[in-house]
Amino acid sequence: MSLLWQARFFTTVNHLRDLPNTQVPEIAFAGRSNAGKSSAINLLCNQKKLAFASKTPGRTQHINYFSIGGAHVGQHRKDATKVEEIRALLVDLPGYGYAEVPGEAKLHWNELLGNYIQRREQLVALVLIMDSRRPFTDLDVQMLEWFAPTGKPVHCLLTKADKLNRNESTNALRLARTVLNSYVDEQGKPFPFTVQLFSALKRTGIDEANQRILDLLGLSEAATEGDDDDAQS
Ligand code: GDP
Repeated sequence: MSLLWQARFFTTVNHLRDLPNTQVPEIAFAGRSNAGKSSAINLLCNQKKLAFASKTPGRTQHINYFSIGGAHVGQHRKDATKVEEIRALLVDLPGYGYAEVPGEAKLHWNELLGNYIQRREQLVALVLIMDSRRPFTDLDVQMLEWFAPTGKPVHCLLTKADKLNRNESTNALRLARTVLNSYVDEQGKPFPFTVQLFSALKRTGIDEANQRILDLLGLSEAATEGDDDDAQS
């Protein structure tokens, strides 16, 4: 059992001023719509519908937060002692690249995501979710360009790996490493990234993703306490 399984809906945010006033580390999941982001989050959190909250009408362009720990905290609970029990936050960023998004919504997306990605101090890392057959679309690159200067790590999930044969999988990983290697942080240093193949359908890559996310959140040691039967969690 992974700590990620504790994830539950925490809050939804449509304006930067409404970002939660929490101090715990948060990790954000970004990806083009249809890349498999919701499937990946749901699988990693072992819940069927968690991330589909983000797909309900009116919420698709919002930032949705899920909490780890502080099990009874909800959006409408203002009890500070409960909030303190939260150990980390998972942040489901709005899927991008909807063809039909009108100009104004695009501007809103730019401002909300760009600012969040570049300025949120509590944000420790980005999980960039890309379809392994169509990685690094313009907007994925935009996300990387916003985020790389922060020098914070990116973990790339190349999803739907079940659609690739062995050769294509190797090539997808190689291409991703080459592209990611081309980014540098503000000091001109290479920025830290990891990349892996993932398939929600075949349930491959879960342990690796789980471990990386817990590591990035600083939760890996705690995750293994009293958890003898699953060395990966
Ligand atoms: P999101 O828009 O990024 O949240 O993407 P979803 O998780 O909703 O997935 C988009 C579509 O891709 C759905 O039809 C999923 O069933 C499908 N999908 C997601 N993950 C996988 C996968 O690992 N393999 C395959 N073959 N299809 C997937």
